Amino acid sequence: MGDRITSEELVEEAIVDGETLQVVRSTWRDAVGLCFDVYRSDGTCLTDDGSLDDHPSAHDLRNLLEQARLTSHFCRFCGKQIPQADPPRIISMADSGTSPWYCAGCWDDRRE
Ligand SMILES: [Zn+2]
Repeated sequence: MGDRITSEELVEEAIVDGETLQVVRSTWRDAVGLCFDVYRSDGTCLTDDGSLDDHPSAHDLRNLLEQARLTSHFCRFCGKQIPQADPPRIISMADSGTSPWYCAGCWDDRRE
């Protein structure tokens, strides 16, 4: 898929909720038009499910970031976001509505 992209260009850096998002415009060799992808500062792609046809508005960027935050895991103990590269530990006894996840730093075998 990547070899069909003929050029990629960083077209915007937007700060949403204190986080810098990068909007990258790609030009495709065998398709008409452009597409846009949005990346977080840690390199996570927010448009993995499908690139955008139009340059995202500030409202679009906020929605993408909110969606990503909903699906990411936060440590129930320290509240930090658990990096994707670091498989989160889950406890089974979390009350419904609370995060069942622990980060590596807070994990303790006794909590299992
Ligand atoms: Zn933690």
